[in-house]
Amino acid sequence: MLPVIALVGRPNVGKSTLFNVLTRSRDALVADLPGVTRDRHYGVCRLDAARPLMVIDTGGLSGSEDGLDGLSARQVRLAIEESQVVVFVVDARDGLLPQDRTIISELRRSGKPLIVGVNKTDGLDLDTVMAEFSAFGVAATVPLAAAHGRGSDLLLADVFPLLPADAYADDGGEEIADPGIRVAIVGRPNAGKSTLVNRLLGEDRLIVSDVAGTTRDPIKVTLERDGKQFTLIDTAGVRRRSKVEDAVEKFSVIKTLQSIEAAQVVVMLVDARENLADQDLTLIGHTVEQGRALVIALNKWDGMDAYQRDQCQQALARRLAFVDWAKIVFISALHGSGMRELMRAVVQAHAAATKELNTSELTRALEKAYESYQPPLVRGHAPKLRFAHPGGLNPPTIVLHGTRTKHIAPSYRRYLENFFRARFKLQGTPVRIDFRESD
Ligand code: GDP
Ligand code: GDP
Repeated sequence: MLPVIALVGRPNVGKSTLFNVLTRSRDALVADLPGVTRDRHYGVCRLDAARPLMVIDTGGLSGSEDGLDGLSARQVRLAIEESQVVVFVVDARDGLLPQDRTIISELRRSGKPLIVGVNKTDGLDLDTVMAEFSAFGVAATVPLAAAHGRGSDLLLADVFPLLPADAYADDGGEEIADPGIRVAIVGRPNAGKSTLVNRLLGEDRLIVSDVAGTTRDPIKVTLERDGKQFTLIDTAGVRRRSKVEDAVEKFSVIKTLQSIEAAQVVVMLVDARENLADQDLTLIGHTVEQGRALVIALNKWDGMDAYQRDQCQQALARRLAFVDWAKIVFISALHGSGMRELMRAVVQAHAAATKELNTSELTRALEKAYESYQPPLVRGHAPKLRFAHPGGLNPPTIVLHGTRTKHIAPSYRRYLENFFRARFKLQGTPVRIDFRESD
């Protein structure tokens, strides 16, 4: 599971600026996608590609409250509880304020390793500034200038040693150990996740105990259907709730995102009887952003009449236009209908996400795409795209070499994505296009 770092601090010290620096991916899949708004609180930092981290901006969660009040907000406490390292962000221009002292003593009580990020050091004398904040006596104090993109590498260099020793150690081994396709079933509370997991397992008693939500070990169950193996990884549905009334309380964005990251295919479960909520779209946005294959399962299809189904389907198609490549299946977890179709869609999405592509067919496709429609001129010059090669799987990543590629508009990137998707039948998975400048 992805290690988690939480950004904590007074309002206006630059947490969200730092969050953006850390989570900005080289080639954003979502940032320019109409229909999705990026979740500004939770993101994945891939600045070190081999060591991804989940980053939580607690400032966005706590609203505008200062100090202790802000910290006592449940979501902030949860974020700190579930993180492995806390980064306390302070403002070099304000200097050390009483609220900072209050917050840091609160953070100390959490027992989490602490790093102080001294932000807005641009144009200031570093020695003076750092001397003021070094009095905290924490694991590390790092100078930052988030607005200028500076300091994130130093920060990460201090974060990694504070993570549990096994944070990245067994990832390779684990993948081999998990049989079949790794699937995460996600969705809002009451969408029907537990019901679906139980239905798939064909038994009504999940023998999984919830260890106070603090364990970092994902809970997994394996199953076999139609000769295919699947591993269902840690979801709220797999974790048996102790009390029903805890369902909403226990919905953890952090765990959901960790599950998405650990999965190959995400089944997004939506309650057909409710309107699609922003939270549903945010989870889909995260799935796309993390490059995971996606199947949308519309649950509770039982007992709806033809008119209701039609209305529901139309509304959904409109709002989910930005993931029109994802298959929508209609199921009833309660009655078990649609299970075969659902798992078939999972298998197909997985096949697309892990399909091997080769350089010559990709380059030929690129030539076709470029011939049919060229990117608009930039100051009289057309960006050129010369050749393509595969850059990775799950999501399929296509590296395109050319010139002036940074001027290529998001709409042209989408055109290429769709072109490659259609050409190579990559239904059910995001496709990542990576431009490289070459001369
Ligand atoms: P948050 O409330 O802690 O999330 O703070 P924001 O990220 O919204 O930043 C608050 C203000 O500080 C914004 O106007 C930023 O442009 C500014 N800011 C953030 N980082 C820096 C920095 O490194 N240097 C300077 N000079 N300003 C910064
Ligand atoms: P979770 O919070 O996502 O794990 O949701 P649950 O599996 O606990 O289901 C929430 C409620 O929806 C329960 O009362 C289920 O019985 C009900 N439910 C789940 N699936 C279906 C379905 O396909 N049809 C109907 N009518 N109810 C369902």
